[in-house]
Amino acid sequence: MRIAGFEKCSLVDYPGKMAAVVFTPGCNMDCFYCHNRWIVSAGADFCAYDPEQVLEFLDTRNGLLDGVVITGGEPTLQPGLEEFIGRVRDLGYPVKLDTNGTNPARLGRLIERGLVDYVAMDLKAPLDSNGSHCDYESLCGSGIDLEAVEASVRLLLQGWVEYEFRTTVAPQLGRDDLMAIARSIRGARRYVLQQYRVPEYAQSGTGVSPVSSALRHGQDAHATKTGVPPVFASNAAQVSAAVEAFDRAACREQDDRGAAYDVASDPRLSFPPHSPYLILEWAEQIAPLVRCVQTRGMGTIDTAIVAAVPPAEFTPSYDEREESLIPQTAV
Ligand code: SF4
Repeated sequence: MRIAGFEKCSLVDYPGKMAAVVFTPGCNMDCFYCHNRWIVSAGADFCAYDPEQVLEFLDTRNGLLDGVVITGGEPTLQPGLEEFIGRVRDLGYPVKLDTNGTNPARLGRLIERGLVDYVAMDLKAPLDSNGSHCDYESLCGSGIDLEAVEASVRLLLQGWVEYEFRTTVAPQLGRDDLMAIARSIRGARRYVLQQYRVPEYAQSGTGVSPVSSALRHGQDAHATKTGVPPVFASNAAQVSAAVEAFDRAACREQDDRGAAYDVASDPRLSFPPHSPYLILEWAEQIAPLVRCVQTRGMGTIDTAIVAAVPPAEFTPSYDEREESLIPQTAV
């Protein structure tokens, strides 16, 4: 299990809980608005923390923290994920997993073994691009296995574990796209619309996140916010190794996109975010399709909307649940 970043305490990552956040490196998507770009670029082998030290830290916070969030990057790419989560749970913490849903087999095993208490799964765009303006490829890069994402949706809808689906309302997504996503998760317990923000790396115009310089200068405050060495920043060797690996990753990203790539001129980043009021209006229209729509990250109008739906229509009976949680067709 590789750990790229660690945040000691967060009030916004685990609904209703004060939680530590563990960031795993690498991702199999490439969303242009990713706020953890450096974690994605660093690759799944990047490691800034010793998992044993993270576990030791969590042990010292027992009784002060309510839970642990495993996020990324994409955590299901990590070998040893089950063992790490098992040890976190042995410390008495409930665990929330953030995933893009591309690994339903692993997700199913985690749920089946009772290792996760809450799953937040991203739905980036409509799964069926028929009639939609925006698709996964245009937001998250090519080669994404949408059948796997659909299998994860079906798995969570069975309701064996608490979950939410969530969509960052990128400027390219319109009302019809969000309605199409909501139809594909019809009856879901919770659907969260997250406000899109232009990522920091784009604002800098360099393609390189300010995280690198934060690491370099050991700016603990910024590091805590972004999830980079807050606990072990005093370990000079570790920080310097992290900086080196990060800079290599940043260079690789520039190379992949071509030497002349200028992130600030990526046309996808020139679209202005939707108004929060428009998103709220869309949330109200979506509400009849799911049991709860929530908006998140929208400042003063952040709110939750509970949809009144006939329970019989949306609650699967036990018999309707599949015998095995692990999709048989998934790899
Ligand atoms: S799936 Fe998440 S971590 Fe991966 S690139 Fe997209 S936003 Fe970033």
